[in-house]
Amino acid sequence: MRRSAIFFGLALLSWGRALAGGIGLAEVARRCGGSLSYGQEGRVGTVQAENCCLTFRHNSACHRLNGVSVYGQHPTRGDPGALVLDSADWNRVLAPLLTPAGAWPLGRVCIDAGHGGRDSGTVQGTLQEKNLTLDIALRLQRLLEEKHIATVLTRGGDTFVPLERRPEIAGGCDLLVSIHCNAAETASAEGIETYVLPAAGTSPTARLDRPGAQDQRTFPNNRCDEQNLWLGYCLQRQLVAIGGTRDRGVRRGRFLVLRACHCPAALVECGFLTHGEEGRRLGTEEHREAIARAICRGICHYGGRR
Ligand SMILES: [Zn+2]
Repeated sequence: MRRSAIFFGLALLSWGRALAGGIGLAEVARRCGGSLSYGQEGRVGTVQAENCCLTFRHNSACHRLNGVSVYGQHPTRGDPGALVLDSADWNRVLAPLLTPAGAWPLGRVCIDAGHGGRDSGTVQGTLQEKNLTLDIALRLQRLLEEKHIATVLTRGGDTFVPLERRPEIAGGCDLLVSIHCNAAETASAEGIETYVLPAAGTSPTARLDRPGAQDQRTFPNNRCDEQNLWLGYCLQRQLVAIGGTRDRGVRRGRFLVLRACHCPAALVECGFLTHGEEGRRLGTEEHREAIARAICRGICHYGGRR
């Protein structure tokens, strides 16, 4: 009796550890009602189900859901051919995206055109980031209002608005989208990325491999963790669907404009001004209109609107 009780206790303990530690991809496939296959010598695992496709890479936190890259909070573990997903990545990242809670309110949307006035943002040749973000913001405002969605702009002209003022302007709004263009020292960097605040107790994407004590901080916007991720995913999915560029994923960063927001918020980096072809495209009205339309579709999808 005692021996069996001890055995039962040990079994419970190891089962608990397995739950806390990770979930094998076979179990992920079972939960999705799909099948698991491995490629690239076991380094890439794909779960294919009726309504979703998930791809995981060995020792990588960049997972793919239905063709969109979404950074989890931990790299996969395990040997090639036997990858293990961190439980938190399933419970707090992928499962909520697979079964979103439903339509979130879209009464009023705050559109934040990055930079402005004396803050030009990235300057590349004749292109200034502050002018491009304002142009996309004004196009987005027109598109949302055509759908009878009210909007608030953090700036409607070439004015300087302090970063800490922007979340205040979003007060009373149902979400904020901050619009930026990217820059890198290497001219080859290209693609689209969308940022949301790291979930409470987790690291920014850039520091996933070396978490620090400051990652334990929480901010007002952390009460929107679930909506933030869904919003970021909806925006990134529509932006990469424009095509012709790289999907750099839904990432996490503690940008001031995000962390002080009391409503769900995401920051989109619409492409690299420092990349020759992408910079040229961002300079065209057609491309900026396509970006505004993609953001509008992403917002509507987030809110369960057509
Ligand atoms: Zn910027």
